Amino acid sequence: MATKFCPACGKPVNEENIICPSCGHNLSAISSVESEVVHDDGPAITGFVFSFIFSLVGLILSAIALKKPNISHRGHGFAKAGLIISIVGLVSEVIASIIIISLAGTIAAFFAGVE
Ligand SMILES: [Zn+2]
Repeated sequence: MATKFCPACGKPVNEENIICPSCGHNLSAISSVESEVVHDDGPAITGFVFSFIFSLVGLILSAIALKKPNISHRGHGFAKAGLIISIVGLVSEVIASIIIISLAGTIAAFFAGVE
């Protein structure tokens, strides 16, 4: 017994059902191709994970994942979170770099002044 998903409400429905038991949507009109849409959340979850490790990679992967047409609601949430975490990560990396560079400059200037 195969299960497909109602295109109107997203609830799993029996393949033999002509009308969705949850929302009453007519299922006879949909093609088998449409009913077999497989959600691919792989890039979204990968992007989310990478956003913690490599912000730039996470940002790119999350942006790609958001553009995917077969992403689920859950995957969309992961991709959005990945995007935000990546941006926050990138900004803090830039700020940290500026602080380190200016500190190094201050220390270099201090030692240059001592000599
Ligand atoms: Zn339905």
